[in-house]
Amino acid sequence: MLRQVVTACLVVVLSACRATPPVAAVTASFGSVRGETIDEARTVAAYAAELVPAIRAAVPGLLDRSIEIWVQRQLEIFEGEPYSDHIAGMADFEEARIHVRAGDDRVALHLAHELVHVLAGPTWSTMPGVLEEGLCDVVAAAVVPELGIEQHVKRVVEAAATAGGLNAIVSFRQWRGGDTYRIRAEVRLSLGDVTPINLNRAFTLSSSEVFAKAAGDSCGGLYGIGYLVAHRIVERQGFAGLHRLCLSATERGLERIPAADILAAAAMNASPDSIRSAVADSIGDEELEALARLVAKDLATATVKLCKDMGGDDQPASFLERADPEFRVPHRRRPVKLAHLREFREEFLRAWGIEEI
Ligand SMILES: [Zn+2]
Repeated sequence: MLRQVVTACLVVVLSACRATPPVAAVTASFGSVRGETIDEARTVAAYAAELVPAIRAAVPGLLDRSIEIWVQRQLEIFEGEPYSDHIAGMADFEEARIHVRAGDDRVALHLAHELVHVLAGPTWSTMPGVLEEGLCDVVAAAVVPELGIEQHVKRVVEAAATAGGLNAIVSFRQWRGGDTYRIRAEVRLSLGDVTPINLNRAFTLSSSEVFAKAAGDSCGGLYGIGYLVAHRIVERQGFAGLHRLCLSATERGLERIPAADILAAAAMNASPDSIRSAVADSIGDEELEALARLVAKDLATATVKLCKDMGGDDQPASFLERADPEFRVPHRRRPVKLAHLREFREEFLRAWGIEEI
């Protein structure tokens, strides 16, 4: 009798807590989308209609199931329990349901990420949570390339932050009397305080442990690591190679792929040095420019401060032309010319104005 009462209570509590489905609905080949308005639902449905087949074509071992997507103004699975702003989407694997935010200008990228969560079936189940997040991000970057590069640099800076940050060099031309010379300053790029992460330990965390840590840490150290490692494995062996790691662990009766197998496939070891050098490997010319855009504000502030310290007395616009500021990472010879970067110019002029006040 007591047991029945308890069960009845639980049912009532659970059904009361579930968020109400958004009112407007559209159906599509992949399933359905619900939104607060029909336009919101249609916009996301159009993205999903392209993303689902693209993801299926790229990644082996995915489930053939119908997917429901909820486009919400407030991201929540349970009524009155919204997720914090830095969480862009959620996937409910059991229900094959995805939650994304209305008005998100990167919704295609976030939707692609969540689609991988709900489509990756039992043959992927030995993948540790950190690596699954990495896989979702790598797939999303591949199928939404216009936003993929920015996500790539963000994730690798997050990964670098767990190993002390990414070293970069800002330099600019200075002149005094008849002499011209270049001033160089080392800057360390990081995204807030990120706790150092032991890679061997990171690969033993379950998906819910990864999410719980990420929910409380907007700096994304674990997501950065997951992305970096998954990216390296896919670069070397494709999505099929990552899938083979999962299958091989299943065949051996293991619950998860051992960390040693993951690191070997990524050609890494568990040391911070290995993380830093993997990050350095992942930054080519295009990525360096995207990185400069991402951290334009910090670079501009640092440059303005340096040139004022050096006694620069030019007007900012003419200073920029003459000084030819450059940004590079130590292992790459080719710098980004910052004066040509709109984001940097804007931040530089703004920072110069602030300095003068
Ligand atoms: Zn995820």
